[in-house]
Amino acid sequence: MASGGGNYRNGTHRNSLKGTTTATDRPLSVNSNPSKPALKNKPLSSAGASASSGLRKSSPGSLGAGGTSKDDAGVPGRVRVVVRLRPRNAEESVADADFADCVELQPEFKRLKLRKNNWDTDTYEFDEVLTEFASQKRVYEVVAKPVVESVLDGYNGTVMAYGQTGTGKTYTLGRLGEEDTADRGIIVRAMEDILADVTLETDSVSVSYLQLYMESLQDLLDPTNDNISIVEDPKSGDISLPGATLVEIRDQQSFLELLRLGEAHRYAANTRLNTESSRSHALLMVHVKRSVKGRDPAHSIQNGNATNMAKSLRPTLVRKGKLVVVDLAGSERIDKSGSEGHTLEEAKSINLSLSALGKCINALAENSAHVPVRDSKLTRLLRDSFGGTARTSLVITIGPSPRHRGETTSTIMFGQRAMKVENMLKLKEEFDYKSLARKLDIQLDQLIMEHERKQKAFEDEIERITTDAESQISEAEQSYANAMEKERLKYQKEYMESIKKLEEKWMMNQQKHSERKDQMVSTAEEVAELKKLLSKETSLRKAAEEEVKNLKSQIAQLKMSEASANSEVLKLRKVLEDEAYRKEKLEGEISMLQTQLLQLSFEADETRRRLDRGLPGKVPGGLDSLISQARPQVNDSGNGEKASMENLFEQVGLQKILSLLEAEDADVRVHAVKVVANLAAEESNQQKIVEAGGLTSLLALLGTSKDETIHRVAAGAIANLAMNETNQELIMSEGGISLLSMTAANAEDPQTLRMVAGAIANLCGNDKLQNKLRGEGGIKALLGMVKCRHPDVLAQVARGIANFAKCESRASTQGNKTGRSLLIEDGALPWIVQNANNEASPIRRHIELALCHLAQHEVNARDMITGGALWELVRISRDCSREDIRTLAHRTLTSSPTLLAELRRLRIDY
Ligand code: ADP
Ligand code: MG
Repeated sequence: MASGGGNYRNGTHRNSLKGTTTATDRPLSVNSNPSKPALKNKPLSSAGASASSGLRKSSPGSLGAGGTSKDDAGVPGRVRVVVRLRPRNAEESVADADFADCVELQPEFKRLKLRKNNWDTDTYEFDEVLTEFASQKRVYEVVAKPVVESVLDGYNGTVMAYGQTGTGKTYTLGRLGEEDTADRGIIVRAMEDILADVTLETDSVSVSYLQLYMESLQDLLDPTNDNISIVEDPKSGDISLPGATLVEIRDQQSFLELLRLGEAHRYAANTRLNTESSRSHALLMVHVKRSVKGRDPAHSIQNGNATNMAKSLRPTLVRKGKLVVVDLAGSERIDKSGSEGHTLEEAKSINLSLSALGKCINALAENSAHVPVRDSKLTRLLRDSFGGTARTSLVITIGPSPRHRGETTSTIMFGQRAMKVENMLKLKEEFDYKSLARKLDIQLDQLIMEHERKQKAFEDEIERITTDAESQISEAEQSYANAMEKERLKYQKEYMESIKKLEEKWMMNQQKHSERKDQMVSTAEEVAELKKLLSKETSLRKAAEEEVKNLKSQIAQLKMSEASANSEVLKLRKVLEDEAYRKEKLEGEISMLQTQLLQLSFEADETRRRLDRGLPGKVPGGLDSLISQARPQVNDSGNGEKASMENLFEQVGLQKILSLLEAEDADVRVHAVKVVANLAAEESNQQKIVEAGGLTSLLALLGTSKDETIHRVAAGAIANLAMNETNQELIMSEGGISLLSMTAANAEDPQTLRMVAGAIANLCGNDKLQNKLRGEGGIKALLGMVKCRHPDVLAQVARGIANFAKCESRASTQGNKTGRSLLIEDGALPWIVQNANNEASPIRRHIELALCHLAQHEVNARDMITGGALWELVRISRDCSREDIRTLAHRTLTSSPTLLAELRRLRIDY
């Protein structure tokens, strides 16, 4: 079969296990699970035809190269075999200096050429070929990383190193890399990756570390534990070591310490057993348990509550992955190293596990019906790693020395055979029923508690309702009994009464019965009587009906006549009004005629006198002219009347006219006072009238007369006379103020008030009379008249106040008066302020002047401020249409320190 370079041996048939029937004692077979089509569908290649050959002819792309991914995705279950060449060590460098290495590697083709002799080589293909230069990192990534990843996904995985002692198994797997981190071996790197990927809150990582020597399994984490038994789950075939110490790993540092501890124990054990570590197998087992989140197993229930329930009842899904790292004992035959002085039996025992492993692999590779898994503890432990459900990577280590060609060859062959073994990966997923049970226990307890609470509440409620019901029933019973008693009493009473009535009736009946006999006689008479009465009643009713009819017709008539009477009344009223008008006119004429009569009587006297004196009796003007003057239609009544008055005054004589003021006839009196008033309107007559006692008479008339016309006319005359200072004093001394006040109090006509107010206003202008006037109530009288809102009256009142204020101001200036204004004392200020801006200009003017006068004296300033007069003054000084008043107001304001201070205080710029 030798061939030149490039002639590969055997390799055309790979994985010849396909389609074979598995033996009963064989571990899980590649094809036992039809759910893995990737494996099932693989083309079969002459199954069993070359089973005898462990070699394989490599062909490019046949093992992961080419079409499929580098991770052999097409053959996921096959044992992955990587070969690693150790560099020459110091000794070899010297000893083998003249010799070439026994192997030549072609990593780019994943091939290894084994030099059989100087002219012949065999070529083998592996999943990866790692040269002496391969870094530890690369070795990890190529050999172990895929396995670690699948462990994290919930599969079992195995990484093992097989090779002659001294070829670097321990270097590859177990270097801690303490001096140089780049040296870290597979174990350290695997744990790093695992810890980086798990979540320690929900996941757990725990480790056992064991040594297998002469079929005895020792716990490297607890040296006293030196015969640990292997337990197989008959159902799942899972292997477990219940006696082994399991240490939970939470960080890399504690893991490294654990490894060191294990190593120390291994060293001690080997010393004790007088052996070398190369004779024993070291096994590190890493258990990774992960909770799977976000997956919803077939528990899905649509309904709301049921979903919640289902969620809470759903056990956590746990994925369990187990990584087994095996540093196998040296593969060299034991007899070679007899130096250790073992007996043959011992040597057999030492090698038992390894050779059993080889046998199993051979059986698997050759698809043998029998795989002797149970022959050794190692094969029992690793039954899952070869031909089981684990993902397995095998690194075979070889040395370069040609002196060990034999061992190297057998190692390579082991690797080649192992490559033919396929595994059936199986996800290790299970539900965490324990924690679910715990959770359910808690829930159950809570439900029991809740139930108890509800039960209690329910019982309480029942009790409450029962009590309520009982009290309601007893109440109802009570009220029923009461009602019954009441009813009973009522009926009893009624019964007694009716009995009594019946008895009475009976008595009466008895009586009537005896009377009836007598009555029988008189009944006939009674009937006759009644008939008579009835007929009388009937006729009365008829008469009443008749009466009613009559009355109704009368009412209708009355209504008609009432309507006509109404119109009659209207007519009469009209007539009456006409009459009144005519009467008024006639009265005017009468007064005129009376004047004429006066004149005529005067003329008659005169004529008589003249005749007595022998003068002609004709009076100038004559009757005709007088008559014509008296006529109302005379046009020049103004001058004409005045002239006639003058005339009258001249002709009749003042005394005569004044005497008529006391005439018997009221009309004459009225007329006379009118004449006097007319005369008094003329200044030239005034003195004469006063001298003749006219003023006194006029004042007396105010007191004696009840006639308002007389009052009005007299007051007008007095007002005229009161323009003179002497007359003013006279009026005052004759009690004029009280007379005028009285007149005002009784007046109904505003014109009367106007005259009275005018008279007082005139008096107010007298400096000497100030106190007296005020003392007799003159100011009060004036203010009393403002009740009548007639502007003529108000104008006179305002004039009076202005006059008074002017006099006071004058008196104060002259030092004749101290103390505040009597006007203010008598309460005139509010009215003054109120009317300071009256729309009638006569009123406004007088008040504006009054305010200026009042303000000219500091004694009044406070009152003026509080009374609001200050504002009016300011307004007057700014807005008054008359310039002189504006100026006066301004001057007044600026000359008053108090008013100025107040304006400043109010921040009014003045
Ligand atoms: P084994 O465990 O197979 O008996 P070791 O791992 O103990 O072999 O290696 C034997 C010696 O070779 C050790 O000194 C080790 O450091 C060294 N060695 C092994 N492999 C390598 C390597 N790839 N590079 C450098 N030195 C190595
Ligand atoms: Mg070793």
